Amino acid sequence: MRQYTYGPFQSRRLGLSLGVNVLANYKLCTYNCVYCEIGLTKKENLVSPDYNIKLPPSPNFRKELKSILHYFPHLNSITFGYNGEPSLNENLLDFLKIAEDVRNDINWPNEKPILTLFTNSSTLHIDGIRKRVNQFELVLAKLDAANDVDFKRTNRPHHDTPNIEMIIESLIKLKQEMPKTHKLAIQCLIYNSYKKDFSPNNNSRNILDLAHALKLIKPNIIQIYSTARIPAEYFAYAIDDEKKREIAAIFKETIDDEKIEINIY
Ligand code: SF4
Repeated sequence: MRQYTYGPFQSRRLGLSLGVNVLANYKLCTYNCVYCEIGLTKKENLVSPDYNIKLPPSPNFRKELKSILHYFPHLNSITFGYNGEPSLNENLLDFLKIAEDVRNDINWPNEKPILTLFTNSSTLHIDGIRKRVNQFELVLAKLDAANDVDFKRTNRPHHDTPNIEMIIESLIKLKQEMPKTHKLAIQCLIYNSYKKDFSPNNNSRNILDLAHALKLIKPNIIQIYSTARIPAEYFAYAIDDEKKREIAAIFKETIDDEKIEINIY
């Protein structure tokens, strides 16, 4: 029986990706995003960014990974995330080390899969967590809002979560501290709302604030995408491709840096 891995699935942003869950089998997160595709965060599982859990990998993780990887010679990514915020697990690097060993022991016909981490960025103000996170070859960090009103409305963070200014500062630091061979992608999930009295994060003020924040962060990649599965709140729905292109154009003009890739999904 598989305990840690999911898929692989064909992912819009990563190609063929094998998911790895480093948390327990229930959602544990510092956010309760309105669009979350794994459902609402229960009150008891909405935790502070300072919350630490120790969940070391069991010997099964190595075995499981070894047996699956041999079947997928064209895998593009081993992706840590799922079930919430993976940086809450103090043993995250123990998982990474095993995945790296197992991957490097295989003769891949093409390029070997990259070691990718999803993070919602809420814990990155903690120096020790940035040190862990920047050891992944690709970090996909969430930034859906760049002012506190939109941040609180969209991501509904735990009350201990720093304000958005501090989160943006920690993303700037993360990028500066990352090894040059590693990449930072900022993911902006932009959605619309059916509810008239709920302002979604596709409003023009937030898009401009995001553009200015991204200019400061200087990530390698910016990914603009929208909901693709059933959201936690019924009123959140996907923006269309035209809106994504419009947002990409605003980002491009404001950031004005050809080295930064802007992709829409
Ligand atoms: S950060 Fe991710 S897992 Fe947590 S609530 Fe938001 S979308 Fe869901």
